[in-house]
Amino acid sequence: MKSLKRTRVSELLKGDSSHLLGKQVNVKGWVRTRRGNKNVAFIALNDGSVIHSIQVVVDVASFNNNELLKKVTTGACISVTGVLVESVGKGQLYEIQAREIELYGDADPGRYPLQKKGHSFEFLREIAHLRPRTNTFGAILRIRHALSFAIHKYFNDNGFFYLHTPIITGSDCEGAGAMFRVTTLSFDDVPRKEDGSIDFSRDFFGKETNLTVSGQLEAELGAMALSNVYTFGPTFRAENSNTPRHLSEFWMIEPEMAFCDIDDNMNLAEDFLKYLVKYIMDNCEDDLEFLQKMYDNDLLKRLDFVLKNEFERITYTEAIEILEASGREFEFPVSWGVDLQSEHERYLVEQHFKKPVILTDYPKDIKAFYMKLNDDGKTVRALDVLFPKIGEIIGGSQREERYDKLSQRIKEMKINSGDVWWYLETRKFGTAPHSGFGLGFERLMLFITGMDNIRDVIPFPRTPMNAEF
Ligand code: ATP
Ligand code: MN
Repeated sequence: MKSLKRTRVSELLKGDSSHLLGKQVNVKGWVRTRRGNKNVAFIALNDGSVIHSIQVVVDVASFNNNELLKKVTTGACISVTGVLVESVGKGQLYEIQAREIELYGDADPGRYPLQKKGHSFEFLREIAHLRPRTNTFGAILRIRHALSFAIHKYFNDNGFFYLHTPIITGSDCEGAGAMFRVTTLSFDDVPRKEDGSIDFSRDFFGKETNLTVSGQLEAELGAMALSNVYTFGPTFRAENSNTPRHLSEFWMIEPEMAFCDIDDNMNLAEDFLKYLVKYIMDNCEDDLEFLQKMYDNDLLKRLDFVLKNEFERITYTEAIEILEASGREFEFPVSWGVDLQSEHERYLVEQHFKKPVILTDYPKDIKAFYMKLNDDGKTVRALDVLFPKIGEIIGGSQREERYDKLSQRIKEMKINSGDVWWYLETRKFGTAPHSGFGLGFERLMLFITGMDNIRDVIPFPRTPMNAEF
């Protein structure tokens, strides 16, 4: 038989495939389940193109290769050629009556780990090489793709340029947390200076280098030429924070805009988040419905909640007043000057305002050196966007564009100005008011998928003591 071109399961089940009814088709994929009896076998075949599997029906008596059929068990990879027919059974419109099956790879039922449904997320993390084959991770990975695509689309449609910022950085002042060192020095024979300190001039780059914690400083350089830029790349933090919201390696989206103040920045953040949520609701319906049914009855309601509500905008100082007046016993007590914890953020969003909240004008001492100082001399033009279930999803600010004020802050915060001479020069030559923010991609994935743990929204999570796969 002449080999047929493969049709994707998505095309058979989601597209209008009626023109293929009664015709031969070929599908390839992995067996999700196999059931039946000695006369007929029902195989649910999934190729990852959609959440649904296509049902393959085999008439066992007339099938010519029973040895092969025995090996068609959960996890096996096969190619099926047969006729597409309307299904008489419940649950699917079409099915394939198999004429020919080719086995690419079997999966010994005694050893293939994904036998039953309902494995725990902890167990699935240990088999991250196979978990993409579950319905749940298939849905998550398709949503992750769609969300990445939507991010590029949004910026492209709105006049932003995608700027590639370096992953290896020579400045350790990005101010967003502990960094991973990049070195080729030998641990057995570390070159030292006379005073005993390590001589990084003999290292690969001739200086200390680390993995970036943020592309922002370089994005600012781009904005001072192209007006509107964004980055979308991996960032790394060596904090030992074992929480369901922190990864050691995560993806960040960082738009940076010239001629933009904190209000424009907030408008962009709100519009961008709403666009992304809506894009996924419009384009990933099946996957969202699956996740809602399986894990989280309120998922679509929560997504809708973001679309329907105007984000509440208040200052940090007002937020502290609300928290103090709440009468709540927080694990971390609040007073003006403390950094907010997710319990406080979630109280504001879920209990008090019942809508997403944007907090602005934080005390300068708990924020990075590059944020624009307000006239009160105490607060900076920072903004955090707070979401239900997640807490902080975006952190951003209007940047300090005044040379004197910026170098003053750099001194106060004991940052080595030799490390950021290039950053300071943008304030010397043609400076401009500008703003930007960082959105944690996996935090947004958590929100959109309703998953509880950030390790379950990235294919191969990196966390303290875990870099398998
Ligand atoms: P948090 O207080 O939650 O640790 P942060 O203040 O360190 O966050 P920023 O430095 O402002 O965060 O980073 C910008 C965005 O990146 C955050 O709003 C969040 O969405 C995301 N983010 C920060 N740290 C992590 C992490 N370790 N894993 C995943 N996402 C993160
Ligand atoms: Mn942090």
